[in-house]
Amino acid sequence: MNKRKILVTSALPYANGSIHLGHLVEYIQTDIWVRFQKMCSPEGDGHEIYFVCADDTHGTPIMLRAEKEGITPEALIDRVHSEHLRDFTDFHIEFDNYYTTHSPETRQYSEDIYSKLKAADPSLIGTQCIEQFYDSVKNIFLPDRFIKGECPKCSAKDQYGDNCEICGAAYAPTDLIKPYSTVSNAALVMRTSEHFFFKLSDNRCISFLRHWTREENHLQPEAANKMREWLGESEQSNLSDWDISRDAPYFGFEIPNASGKYFYVWLDAPIGYMGSFKNLCNQRNINFDEFWKKGSTTELYHFIGKDILYFHALFWPAMLENSGYRTPTKIFSHGFLTINGEKMSKSRGTFITAENYLKQGLDPEYLRYYYAAKLNGTMEDIDLNFDDFTARVNSDLVGKYINIASRVAGFLVNYFNYRVTDISGLVIQSDSLQGPEQFKTGGARLIDELLENADLIHTHMENRRYNLAISTIMALTGKVNEYWNQQKPWDKAKQLDDEQQKLSLHLVSSITIECFRILTIFLKPILPKLAQNAESFLNVEPLQWKDLSKTLLPGHQIKAYKHLMTRIDRKKIDAMIEASK
Ligand SMILES: [Zn+2]
Repeated sequence: MNKRKILVTSALPYANGSIHLGHLVEYIQTDIWVRFQKMCSPEGDGHEIYFVCADDTHGTPIMLRAEKEGITPEALIDRVHSEHLRDFTDFHIEFDNYYTTHSPETRQYSEDIYSKLKAADPSLIGTQCIEQFYDSVKNIFLPDRFIKGECPKCSAKDQYGDNCEICGAAYAPTDLIKPYSTVSNAALVMRTSEHFFFKLSDNRCISFLRHWTREENHLQPEAANKMREWLGESEQSNLSDWDISRDAPYFGFEIPNASGKYFYVWLDAPIGYMGSFKNLCNQRNINFDEFWKKGSTTELYHFIGKDILYFHALFWPAMLENSGYRTPTKIFSHGFLTINGEKMSKSRGTFITAENYLKQGLDPEYLRYYYAAKLNGTMEDIDLNFDDFTARVNSDLVGKYINIASRVAGFLVNYFNYRVTDISGLVIQSDSLQGPEQFKTGGARLIDELLENADLIHTHMENRRYNLAISTIMALTGKVNEYWNQQKPWDKAKQLDDEQQKLSLHLVSSITIECFRILTIFLKPILPKLAQNAESFLNVEPLQWKDLSKTLLPGHQIKAYKHLMTRIDRKKIDAMIEASK
């Protein structure tokens, strides 16, 4: 196994709202993968892997919200940044750098990429005059989400610009009757302005993207199919040029040599990956170019939601390809979160923020475990069903995995002075015990079975099929419990004056605690805090994947058992839902 150099990103959350359970699907998914890679290494100190992210801070909604709160956009994004980082940290999302797109680094790369696209021959940046709704009280062009009016079909009032909530008709904002601004309530007028466009419909982009989206599994198969629809097969593609500028007033980066024109937030958002990494490079003396220049042999992975596939699988690689940078190795897209089978909703109390979840005293690792048990590496939506959530965490995690440690610890503590015995050769004279052969080989076979599954679990984790990793791990966990029950240690403990029974009890307890150690290695990327507490109970150094080839040494002393995790109290979930309404 070679040491890999890997850069991983999660999509940048917008600095206009709180982190909620829907967001966390992605950050937990990415964090598990990064932690897994960091644990696996030929030399023991991990692959060189970096996980960066940032707040996405630009655009009209940020500007308007700051104005509403009577603060500057900078003050708003500073506050939101610290809230986001607090929530991520609480859920054990461990970024190497969590930065902001409102940074000198992101500005530098935005200008650089733009100027290279502009300088291409012929230029990949064009201009067009477009007509847009203008709020002449606020003196701004308005994004669609701030526009309402009467439905052109049924004349219902106060409908948004894309569809009618009364009759269900879909239309364009320009079709609305008496359109008005939700910011100022002013009637809107159409006004013309010159915008800059990235020429995505240029053949240099189309032919590149037709190859890129189909080759080397850059995209999951279902994502590649989606791109095929957009890109078209023949001469004609369905792609149009991409509007990358917005007019002042706008919170963002002004376009060089174009006074009053700003980069559209979606242009600088993905460039924020580069900005955040550059900022990390400066802190840690990492070679930025090795990761980003064209021809780079390092790996670059973007974890995203399927709603922003268009930006990441088309605009982003086309921009990079035509400006001297490398393109992503793979884009890992996931589905949306539903709760109890439905869209998250404020009225049902299922629009749950990270903060509200934690406020009820719910352990963040319940959610990490549950999401992992559902994530299968595809773009399918995942459902958080609270009955299933409670049952699974309580029966699998607490009832099976934690249970092993809590059951065995007492025997080792009470009868063997916290010490494990030698299990390396499973040393009991077979002729001196009743049924010892079965007992010995049973213990040896169990440990072997756990270790034989390590490669399979490794492959599932690498491929982001955490659901399969977990079902494999939990099947093994069930077998360890079975073994323990079959050995009836409580019976052996009643016959401790019989030296063989005592030896047998020591061996069974030592084998079982060794199994717990192995299971902890498997679960560690998913449950980092729990694993840390388990390491402290086992009295071992932070576990790495390579520690699978070791065992606890004879005479090794564990520590007294302290509660590792409590069961989910259903009342806390009900309280959380109530508090989210
Ligand atoms: Zn209508």
